[in-house]
Amino acid sequence: MPRFRRILDELPAYRAGKAVVSADGRSFKLSSNECPYDPLPSVVEAVATAAREMHRYPDPASAALTDALAERYKVPREHLALGAGSVTVAQQLFEAVSEPGAEVIYAWRSFEAYPLLADLAGVTSVRVPLTDETHDLQAMAAAITPATRMIFVCNPNNPTGTANRSEELTVFLDQVPEDVLVVLDEAYREYVRDVDVPDGLGLYPDRPNVAVLRTFSKAYGLAGLRVGYLIAHEPVASAVRKTTVPFAVNAIAQAAAIASLAAEDELLERVEAVVKERTRVRETLLGQGWAVPPSEANFVWLRLGDHTGEFADRCAVDGVAVRPFGAEGARVSIGSPDANDTFLTAAQAFRTEL
Ligand code: PMP
Repeated sequence: MPRFRRILDELPAYRAGKAVVSADGRSFKLSSNECPYDPLPSVVEAVATAAREMHRYPDPASAALTDALAERYKVPREHLALGAGSVTVAQQLFEAVSEPGAEVIYAWRSFEAYPLLADLAGVTSVRVPLTDETHDLQAMAAAITPATRMIFVCNPNNPTGTANRSEELTVFLDQVPEDVLVVLDEAYREYVRDVDVPDGLGLYPDRPNVAVLRTFSKAYGLAGLRVGYLIAHEPVASAVRKTTVPFAVNAIAQAAAIASLAAEDELLERVEAVVKERTRVRETLLGQGWAVPPSEANFVWLRLGDHTGEFADRCAVDGVAVRPFGAEGARVSIGSPDANDTFLTAAQAFRTEL
C-alpha cells in the first residue's frame, strides 16, 4: 500500500450543495449561493472564442485580466494575485503561512473550506465561536498568540449572512500585530447594502497586513469557471503568486472574467434584483415566525436547531435544495422569484406541521 499523510484519514470532507428533484420533476438548487441567472450572451461569446484556442496553454500571469481588475479597482497591478476560484487563493494563503506550529484563527461557524485548508496545509486551526451569528472580533483578537500567522474574517459571513461593521473592524485591525496577515474574505461583497459594512478595498491601502479576497463565482455568475483573486500589498500578493501551480486559471475562465467586467453594469443590476428578493424572502420568513438574522449576502440563515435536518428534507419534497448545518440551522440561497416562492411555501408548510 502506498503511504500517505495521516491527516488525510481525518480530513473533513467538503460538502458541495446538491440539487434535489420533487416527485413532479421540479428542482430549485438553493444550496450553493450561485447566481440564479443564465450567463450573459456576451460572456458566452467570449467563452466560445477562447475555446477555439484550447489547444494552447493560457497566459500563466493572466495579464489581461489582471490589467482589467487593476483598472476596475484603481489598484496597482502588483497588488493582485489570481487563482482558480477564491478557495484556491485561500489555499495558497494557507500554504504561504504554513510552518511547524503555525496557527490560523477563524470564526466558527464560517466557510467550511477553512478547516479543510488548514489541515491540508498542516497549520493549527483556532476556531472562535460566533456571537449572535456574527464574528466576535474582540474574542478573535484575544485568541492571537505568538504562533498566529493568519486570521480569516469572512465578511459577510458564510453561512449566517451577517456582517461586521467599520468601527469594530478597524478597532480589531489596529489590535492585530503587523506580522499577522488578516484576510477579509469578501466573496459576497457585491450584495452588501449596509453602508456601515466597510469595503476591504478601502481598508487595505493603509495596512500592509490586510488582504481582500474576492470571487467571480457569485455576483458575476462564473462559479463553474473558477476565478478568484486577492488584493493586498505587493509582498502578500507576491506570496500568493509564488504558491500557485502553473496555468491555474484557464484561458476560458480568464476570457469570461474579462467579459464579465465589461458587462458589469448588467451583472450588478441582477445583484440588485437578488438583494430585493433577499428582503422579500427574509420578511416573509420572519412573518412565518422563523428566526432569520439580517443578511448582507445572497442567502439567508434560518436558526432551526434540532429541526434542521427535517426542514431540509421537507424543502427537498418540493424540489428545493437548501444547505443544512448539523443541528444549527440551514442556509438558503436567494434564487429566482419562482424558486424563492417555492421555498417560502415549503417553509410555511413545515412551520404549520411543527
Ligand atoms: N469564500 C467564501 C466565504 C465562500 O462562501 C466561498 C464559496 N462558497 C468561497 C470563498 C469560494 O468561492 P470560489 O472558490 O468559488 O471563488
